[in-house]
Amino acid sequence: MHWNEGASDCTAAPQSPLQVHQYEPQTFILRQNPCASFEANFIYLLIGSDKALLIDTGAVADPKAMPLAKTILELLPDKDGIKLPLLVAHTHRHQDHRAGDPQFAALSSVQIVPFDLEGVRGFFGFTNWPKGVAHLDLGGRIVDVIPTPGHNATHVVFYDERTGILFSGDFLMPGRLLIDDAAAYHESALRVIDVLKTRPLTHVLGGHIELDAAGRAFRFGSHYHPNEHRLELAEADLTALPAAFETFNGFYARYRNYILSNPMRNLLVEAIAALAVLIFMVWGVRRLLRRGRGSLNRSAAQIS
Ligand SMILES: [Zn+2]
Ligand SMILES: [Zn+2]
Repeated sequence: MHWNEGASDCTAAPQSPLQVHQYEPQTFILRQNPCASFEANFIYLLIGSDKALLIDTGAVADPKAMPLAKTILELLPDKDGIKLPLLVAHTHRHQDHRAGDPQFAALSSVQIVPFDLEGVRGFFGFTNWPKGVAHLDLGGRIVDVIPTPGHNATHVVFYDERTGILFSGDFLMPGRLLIDDAAAYHESALRVIDVLKTRPLTHVLGGHIELDAAGRAFRFGSHYHPNEHRLELAEADLTALPAAFETFNGFYARYRNYILSNPMRNLLVEAIAALAVLIFMVWGVRRLLRRGRGSLNRSAAQIS
């Protein structure tokens, strides 16, 4: 699948805000155009016989700029003369995964899962978070919900038994895996691997693509993604994740299909480096001034 790559000049090349791909009759992959938001989120619609599940609502709130709810309603089949009920859930609470929520708020037969930790735990019925697996029954289609804190405390991933796909949000994707809590992230990776031991895994589909085909990251905030990395990651990328954390230097590590990064620590390192440069510059300027004053004194002595 070739996804819209945005543009270096978005105003010169207007593009459709939302790309819709039917993966199979009851599974849709939607991609927000990089020109509409540099986050260019992937959103997933899973349809069962009683209910549909929407995973994330993306980075854009304005329905005129991003007609997400309208598009989803058009994709939803009818049952007994009315639209199939829709459950809107999130991989985690970061704004780029739920900005579209208000578009669904006023719709009848749409239920939105809360995005705060208490709400997530309560809705899915986790009593021993982050342990345990919750199950959503869409009607002939079971989706498992697995807690995966680490990138964010509220993160969950969804395993779909119909397609064998793991919908992994920002937990695992061809991009920067931004670490908030490394120990929790490592534990989450181990738990997901353990849960999937007894389930066939076809693809891992995340929330963004931030790398090009060679594994290099696009500049952060870029609206242009030429020659993007493929969206789907494989089981091997998941099984390699715990070892990546075990050897992680705590700051930054680049792998073939993802980058581990601790943004707060890297920011701290940059701040320390900037401070060191500043101290060096002040020291240099003072030295120059002192030298200048010395030669002034010498020339004053020669005149007298
Ligand atoms: Zn995130
Ligand atoms: Zn994200």
